[in-house]
Amino acid sequence: RAKRVTRESVALFSEEMKVAAFLRFTLEGDLRRAIGEEELQVLYQPIVDVARKAIVKAEALVRWPHLARGSVPPPEFISLAEETGMIVPLTRAVMERVCNDIAELGSALPPDFRISINLSGVNFMDAQLIPTVRAVLDGAGVPASRIEFELTETVLMRDLDYATVILAQLREMGIRVAVDDFGTGYSSLAYLRRLAVNTLKIDRSFVGELDDGQGVAIVKAVIGLAHSLGLEVVAEGVETAAQLEALRQQGCNLIQGYLFARPMSIRALAQSLACASVTLPESPAPAED
Ligand code: C2E
Ligand code: MG
Ligand code: MG
Ligand code: MG
Repeated sequence: RAKRVTRESVALFSEEMKVAAFLRFTLEGDLRRAIGEEELQVLYQPIVDVARKAIVKAEALVRWPHLARGSVPPPEFISLAEETGMIVPLTRAVMERVCNDIAELGSALPPDFRISINLSGVNFMDAQLIPTVRAVLDGAGVPASRIEFELTETVLMRDLDYATVILAQLREMGIRVAVDDFGTGYSSLAYLRRLAVNTLKIDRSFVGELDDGQGVAIVKAVIGLAHSLGLEVVAEGVETAAQLEALRQQGCNLIQGYLFARPMSIRALAQSLACASVTLPESPAPAED
């Protein structure tokens, strides 16, 4: 059937848009309530150092177990939160949860163990960011050296002068900064040098191409760049032993992905940390033919 814009289809379309707008409107109210009533949860995904066979960091990832709709995917409610300004209280809630969890774990956390928290562009531009972080850390009695922030390239590159100032303040406090989803934006080498970042996180899309030898050139370049700038490099979204092997060959030892662990509760993280060492998957068997 040929597509024709008829009166009915226009009416139907606007009816659908009304439904979508209504769903969004109710979701917005639900999210506001969820933040206020502390319904949001935080899971932790381990980052493994395959050379040391140990979990050396973890990334905090927010979860919203919605009563009626099941679990809402983070990209969906994060963008809603960004558009409505709710990202500010949401991020504060995540920071508080992470700091309380760190305080509760106490010495169960290795001395140099950090937890990374994702910041959105709105958080980065928020004039209250630094005072809020200070207040949350002090409130929980957690040193800044436990925290790393993850920011995307796009957010960091939007206003370099501003980013330079904020990153310098974070560094002075002792908070580390990682560039998230690295390779998907447009940062230049010169900019990266200028910014006080500590870590590059190779985006999952490049890691996913490693199996067929496709993404090797990009991943190799990013790892080389990170090492030449003295930065730590983490590969995100590692799912297969072949990807792991390709990364190791290039000298990337810090691995995050389903191959080792999915995001887990703080309790489960503590249990994993208590295990003497991480079990590495077998090297992929050589091809038969
Ligand atoms: P991200 O910061 O790049 O986080 C990594 C995402 O990749 C997480 O998805 C994680 O569960 C997923 N992941 C990790 N390993 C694998 C793997 O091996 N395979 C696959 N397919 N996926 C893997 P998640 O938790 O759904 O979060 C999606 C995005 O939502 C995050 O991407 C981040 O941009 C945002 N986000 C999550 N939590 C927060 C938060 O607390 N605050 C803010 N501002 N953004 C958040
Ligand atoms: Mg992240
Ligand atoms: Mg990422
Ligand atoms: Mg991502």
